[in-house]
Amino acid sequence: MGVVLLALGGTISVPGDSRGARLSGAEITAAVLDLADLGVGVEARDVHAVPSGSLTFAQVLDVVEIAARAVTEGADGVVVTQGTDTLEETAFLADLVWPHDAPLALTGAMRQPAMAGADGPANVLAAVRVATAREARGAGALVVFNDEVHAARWVRKTHSTSTAAFASPSAGPLGHVVEGRVRMLLAPPRHEPLSAEVDRERLAAARVALHVVALDDDGAQLQGLDRTHRGLVVAGFGVGHVPGALASRLGTLAEHMPVVLTSRTGSGSVLRHTYSAPGSETDLRRRGLIDGGFLDPYKARVLLRLLLAAGAARADIVEAFASRG
Ligand code: GLU
Repeated sequence: MGVVLLALGGTISVPGDSRGARLSGAEITAAVLDLADLGVGVEARDVHAVPSGSLTFAQVLDVVEIAARAVTEGADGVVVTQGTDTLEETAFLADLVWPHDAPLALTGAMRQPAMAGADGPANVLAAVRVATAREARGAGALVVFNDEVHAARWVRKTHSTSTAAFASPSAGPLGHVVEGRVRMLLAPPRHEPLSAEVDRERLAAARVALHVVALDDDGAQLQGLDRTHRGLVVAGFGVGHVPGALASRLGTLAEHMPVVLTSRTGSGSVLRHTYSAPGSETDLRRRGLIDGGFLDPYKARVLLRLLLAAGAARADIVEAFASRG
């Protein structure tokens, strides 16, 4: 049946010339001249027309529902076009709940359509190839950018303007699009999908804060957090360390809400039992912090919020981070 393309806005839709309105999914698709040669039918649908920084968890879950229905109704795969700013988070949220083997390929652009060397058309073409590739089936949600295929689980936006902004620092790309052929080199670990049917009120209430520790950080801004939030992700130094002075504040918070420990470095995992000074990973785990493993702070926050919104008990949250972290 071909591919359904869901357009959500972002740079790929910003005309960048005298036209005011954003490009529709059909206009984005029409700009991909090589699509005609591919012989794949692309049905474009406009879902949201916003900068990706304005997308919400609820909207992303709605998009997954639309995409899942399209596959159930016969689409080979689904392409989502959106802004790049939150692509690493939306892709991971979609991946956590994506129930199909059919690929869900997310892409966008770093250059607006009217700019020289606009990358949107090439990214959409590659994403359509991935969405219909037998090799990409079963790999979950994928970010297709600059002819690379990244697992939602690992991908990061690592540059503010480069057309090669997306990378998977801890794992590398899963595959490449070479001469129009999708070459998958690796298969990402897959897990049972979490339920996408999350009550919207519970989702809104499941606020998860993110605190990035910094030199000489006394954590004053965490004061009263247990009154406004249901969970906290700490982006610690290096292998998951915080200033010693912050440790007891985090331990007290961990008595009231799940607190997940991650690294602010951008790649690699936190440790579990190598250092023992106050504020070390061993100390923080002893105080009840949950080890986020290889999950970066933003992805850990996505997983924690989805679990809290689904009413997961603490033991389930610990288990989810142990298996997915
Ligand atoms: N960089 C923005 C994004 O990620 C694009 C802003 C816009 O679409 O207006 O969505």
